[in-house]
Amino acid sequence: MTSRLTIAIQKSGRLSKESLALLKACGVKFSINDARLIAHSTSHNIDLLRVRDDDIPGLVMDGVVDLGLVGENVLEEARLEREATAMNANFVALRSLEFGHCRLSLAVPKEAQERGLAQLNGARIATTYPRLLQRYLQQQQIAARSVVLTGSVEVAPRAGLADAVCDLVSTGATLEANGLVETDVVFRSQAQLIQTAELSDPNKLALINQLLPRVDGVQLAKE
Ligand code: ATP
Ligand code: ZN
Repeated sequence: MTSRLTIAIQKSGRLSKESLALLKACGVKFSINDARLIAHSTSHNIDLLRVRDDDIPGLVMDGVVDLGLVGENVLEEARLEREATAMNANFVALRSLEFGHCRLSLAVPKEAQERGLAQLNGARIATTYPRLLQRYLQQQQIAARSVVLTGSVEVAPRAGLADAVCDLVSTGATLEANGLVETDVVFRSQAQLIQTAELSDPNKLALINQLLPRVDGVQLAKE
């Protein structure tokens, strides 16, 4: 029996639609049953694993899946986290994908925006990405504490939980709606196609080599 290539994508969220669209544009056919974690391709020896985006880097680094489509923000945070805890953080970055563009930015309440980055010394900053935030703060020689929230980061200052936020931004509308002003870009991100580091199965490698030029074709058409 030939082995099946497993690809992890976000189940439901900002990357889901375009991840599926990319596979479809590459000629990989699926019929998705929303209740199911796994979808088998009807055109290739490929299985799709639909999970939370936060789980994708670990699944690839641990070799549980062969490929993953994930935002660089989530990927780099996971890599730093795993390095710090002596876990395997290896993967192969295959392609940057032309979707999921966003930036991780520092933002402060409107009334505090004139005081600049130095004001963050001693501040509490709410974020979902403590490692990316701390790396940036170290580079800027700022000593601030992070308050880790996995959601609703933008309401933390108003709720009295933090003095500032370090959150994902694409248009800035969410920040504005919460009375926050973007002051610094900490990290720029887009979706990435990544591969597990130790892949030796010749069938899987052949399939990846067949898919990559198609991915490149789709990316070129988008530019
Ligand atoms: P999950 O349930 O899978 O954990 P989530 O709520 O963490 O979902 P989404 O909000 O769907 O994640 O965002 C997924 C990814 O989309 C982000 O990690 C980021 O790479 C990208 N993205 C693009 N634009 C934005 C944006 N404006 N805000 C948040 N994420 C964005
Ligand atoms: Zn997530």
